[in-house]
Amino acid sequence: MAKKSVCIVGSGNWGSAIAKIIGNSVKNSSLFEEKVLMWMFEEQVDGRNLTEIVNTDHENVKYLPGVKLPTNVVAIPDLTAACKNADILVFVLPHQFVDKTCKTMEAHMKKDAVAISLIKGFAITDHGIKLISEIISENLHKIPCAVMMGANLAGEVANEMFCESTIGCKNEEMGQMLKTLFEAPYFRCTVVEDACTVECCGALKNVVGIGAGIVDGMKYGDNTKAAVIRLGLMEMMKFIEVFMAGSQCKMETFFESCGIADLVATCHGGRNRMLGEAVVSSKKTIRELEKEILKGQSFQGPLVAKEIHDMLEKRDMLKRFPLFVAVHKICKREMDPSLFIDCLRDHPEHM
Ligand code: NAD
Ligand code: 13P
Repeated sequence: MAKKSVCIVGSGNWGSAIAKIIGNSVKNSSLFEEKVLMWMFEEQVDGRNLTEIVNTDHENVKYLPGVKLPTNVVAIPDLTAACKNADILVFVLPHQFVDKTCKTMEAHMKKDAVAISLIKGFAITDHGIKLISEIISENLHKIPCAVMMGANLAGEVANEMFCESTIGCKNEEMGQMLKTLFEAPYFRCTVVEDACTVECCGALKNVVGIGAGIVDGMKYGDNTKAAVIRLGLMEMMKFIEVFMAGSQCKMETFFESCGIADLVATCHGGRNRMLGEAVVSSKKTIRELEKEILKGQSFQGPLVAKEIHDMLEKRDMLKRFPLFVAVHKICKREMDPSLFIDCLRDHPEHM
């Protein structure tokens, strides 16, 4: 059987960490081509193209400094050239860029390719909320799109600190093939069929992460943070039950790495947590804070909070999700962060 060729669509903080894993995993493989193309949104760093830096110094100095990438990972600024021979497309970019990226790829890619999304976010359409994996599949000739989410802070993964991740894939054979591609001794994957819950957990936990940061910024203690994590989890579960009703969500998926583990990791070490903390001590807008704190990387939580808020408002369900709603209002600067905990005192979970 011909070896499968892999293209990574995206090259930020997580994109680069996953490129290190994939680059090493395909070496000497009987299943995968050794050369891995990584599409990079081109930019200049110290007067040089970032693709040139990656291809000569083998380091993404902007998004994952200090970590060497395998030399078989080749950065490429032309998206159509990057994707045209790929059998496996690994999507890993901020979710607001997915639609446009897919539209550029559509006419140039193999129609029998498969995809996997590592993107933690939702898309909003006229009909409500949509999964990013659905957007990818619908835009790209209905190719199957699996997901991978987990407690995977990119810097830790890149430094080979042991962790787990969850692959959500409806097709068992494809799921096992992806597990082979992603696994490393320090990165262990489980495969589950309940891809919808895996993906929703990845998007929703970012909102709770901001809430955890607000608690830190307000100098509350560990009990309060634990309450926010628990109430956040309950809202995540309710949200998936209400809005993904047809998806046959399984309770046990919340106990995979994509569920409680990712929620805890994000609430302690995530960028969204950092944002929540900064929102308390600064009067700057989210955009200003993003520029200042992340220097090019992006917070996905505020966008997801807005997407959820707008949908809850349409469905007259704002009161059922007070944590999600408060995080959105605080991010928009429509509510003072000091009122966050007051929004949780009469939470539906306490009634
Ligand atoms: P990032 O936050 O580092 O984002 C910056 C990336 O966006 C850069 O590669 C930049 O070139 C690119 N970009 C900027 N403008 C663009 C445009 N117009 N079109 C296309 N790309 C553009 O990225 P990341 O950390 O790799 O995150 C990607 C996804 O992975 C997100 O959904 C995130 O939630 C998820 N994720 C991140 C982590 C993490 O620890 N960083 C872990 C797991 C999952
Ligand atoms: P942040 O985007 O909040 O850093 O979360 C990263 C992540 O998804 C860890 O699994």
